Amino acid sequence: MSGNLFNAISAEFKTTAVEMKGWPKPDRPEIAFAGRSNVGKSSMINALCKRKKLVRVSNTPGRTRTLNFFDVTVEDKSGKRHEVRFCDLPGYGFAKASKADRADWGKMIESYVKGREGLRAMVCIVDAEVGPTPDDVDVIPWLIKAGRPVIVVATKVDRLPKHKRIPRLQEIEKKLEMGKGEAIGFSSTEGLNLDVLWARILGP
Ligand code: GDP
Repeated sequence: MSGNLFNAISAEFKTTAVEMKGWPKPDRPEIAFAGRSNVGKSSMINALCKRKKLVRVSNTPGRTRTLNFFDVTVEDKSGKRHEVRFCDLPGYGFAKASKADRADWGKMIESYVKGREGLRAMVCIVDAEVGPTPDDVDVIPWLIKAGRPVIVVATKVDRLPKHKRIPRLQEIEKKLEMGKGEAIGFSSTEGLNLDVLWARILGP
């Protein structure tokens, strides 16, 4: 439950890119992380990598086009090593963003999702306590329809009493037009379901 099946053995910052030409060569499977600002995206990446400060918690908001890439090596229980790349997408939060920022984010995400070679899956993060926001409802079903595998993770589940967790996940699945049992409840602070998320990231 708390991360015994997968062990991140290294995690290194690779590069920052604003334009497509700055994306690193797609030489390993890539997993992108998307979510509105403050949802807990940096904390999730740090928890998966077993690092406290690989990604700055509460990144400067408003950088609508900056992609950060990290190279991660994780070892599974059998000792097999998997090399992946994480792409930290800029957080969205359209309620407070200007029209120009929204358009920038939309263009960036569209070219990335449609054009990125090696993109294995998108991890879409929602706040389990708050549930999907109108922005999440705008963005996540669109990403699902864009055809890349999408893993929806409801983080900060530690803030919900245990009996409310499954009903909340079901509510989230319904709002985001997903199948039953597809969303993962997660907590970075408690390390809850780290293995479940790693298993989904690495795939069958
Ligand atoms: P980001 O803007 O999406 O990268 O979000 P951060 O990772 O910076 O987290 C935003 C805030 O939520 C910070 O105050 C974190 O400490 C808090 N937070 C993140 N993940 C969790 C979690 O799993 N549980 C709880 N209780 N708080 C969390």
